[in-house]
Amino acid sequence: MNNDALQALVEAIARDDFGRTFKHHAYFNRRLRTTGGRYLLGSHDIEVNPKQYEAFGEAALIDIIKHELCHYFLHLDKKGYQHRDADFKALSKRVGAPRFCAPIESYASRANYIYVCTKCHTEYMRIRKVNTSRMRCGKCGGRLKEITKQ
Ligand SMILES: [Zn+2]
Ligand SMILES: [Zn+2]
Repeated sequence: MNNDALQALVEAIARDDFGRTFKHHAYFNRRLRTTGGRYLLGSHDIEVNPKQYEAFGEAALIDIIKHELCHYFLHLDKKGYQHRDADFKALSKRVGAPRFCAPIESYASRANYIYVCTKCHTEYMRIRKVNTSRMRCGKCGGRLKEITKQ
């Protein structure tokens, strides 16, 4: 996935899940180390850690984007855009976003659901349940099946 595809994905999530328009830039930043993504207060851009996508696929990427878009829209609306704010808690709950910027190392330990691709057998971990009739494997486009977490 390149920056153009990421930009298109962020715009689509903003439209479909938030009912709003994302008017700034989203791009990958490989230098991000401790978080999956970052919202920049100055430029209003969103940076995404490509390692999260490489390790956990599109489902994890969507979680990060939703989370950063919560910061984005609340900040632009001059509402409480920080993790501890009531506005932030309410919006992240409404759109199904994780409440914290996913730290890359501990994503696996926080995941409640594990899915496996029925075609290429890649495993995906996710904090929230996914709709397996809509979500496809990020590598081959195959169907995902939920497996029980050990
Ligand atoms: Zn955050
Ligand atoms: Zn697959």
